[in-house]
Amino acid sequence: MDPYTIFAEIIAGRAPASKVYEDDDVLAFMDIRPLTPGHLLVVPKMAARSLAELDPAIGGKLFQVGQRLAAALRASEVGCDGVNFFLADGVTAGQEVFHVHLHVIPRTAGDGFGLRARPTHPRRADLDYLATSIRGALNR
Ligand code: 5GP
Repeated sequence: MDPYTIFAEIIAGRAPASKVYEDDDVLAFMDIRPLTPGHLLVVPKMAARSLAELDPAIGGKLFQVGQRLAAALRASEVGCDGVNFFLADGVTAGQEVFHVHLHVIPRTAGDGFGLRARPTHPRRADLDYLATSIRGALNR
């Protein structure tokens, strides 16, 4: 595995970051290009390029820390009304830094942030077909 990413440098203390939370497994800091004011990143200290490489227990910790940060964002001077979690896994999903990270994005009315999508309403048979396929993959 190529261990070099900017997040590995931040974790090692070789690159600067505005840290918000740290424990043995996880570090959280301000995103350098915030989508909204207060945008945070939660990263595992152990390198993992993708969800497939991430220890599920550490993934659980990312979510737990994200929950605490969401509450802190609401209580802080960021003063948001809502929070989005976002995680890009893979280039096609928009991942740019290949060290798993959970975005914690504060939301206020009219902040301009949002997902672009083309919602469809597939037939139940199509939903069932894919559900069966995914269920099968889960048990492989
Ligand atoms: P991705 O697109 O991989 O999900 O998100 C990468 C995020 O890392 C982006 O939101 C980007 O602004 C942030 N980022 C990239 N380089 C740095 C850096 O050097 N410091 C910090 N704090 N954030 C960074």
